Amino acid sequence: MIMSFGQYKDKHVGWVIRNDFSYFKWMKRQEMTNRKEFQAMKKYVSILNRIPFQCACYGKCKPKNIATRYSIYSKNPDLHYYCDECDPYSSGANNGKLFIGKTIEELARLSDCNESIKQFTTNKGLKNGMRVQSYDNFFVKHK
Ligand SMILES: [Zn+2]
Repeated sequence: MIMSFGQYKDKHVGWVIRNDFSYFKWMKRQEMTNRKEFQAMKKYVSILNRIPFQCACYGKCKPKNIATRYSIYSKNPDLHYYCDECDPYSSGANNGKLFIGKTIEELARLSDCNESIKQFTTNKGLKNGMRVQSYDNFFVKHK
């Protein structure tokens, strides 16, 4: 699905999710939720949330589990990935300083979340420089 209006006209809606998730939230505030672009974004966000993380847990589990959640430390945008068994604090973060989540929406509540959302979607299989057709293929494959 291609954006038919606005500052991201002609971009794939998946590109917008990856590069400027605030635009999705802005559309919601503008009561544009009936637009086909918004509907597609909503569906794609749920697909991205549902696809498993594509890396092993950063914690101490052996054998390594696949990661099921991320942690983010204070103002550092980098995501660290953990399974449900391992404690994200085991890497030495100060108590209360980690945000732990599973979804894009949770990340999007943090300030300056663009880089984090980019990392999240990279982990799920999106890449920089993907063409419209590649975005379409990706979301068809995972629907
Ligand atoms: Zn683990």
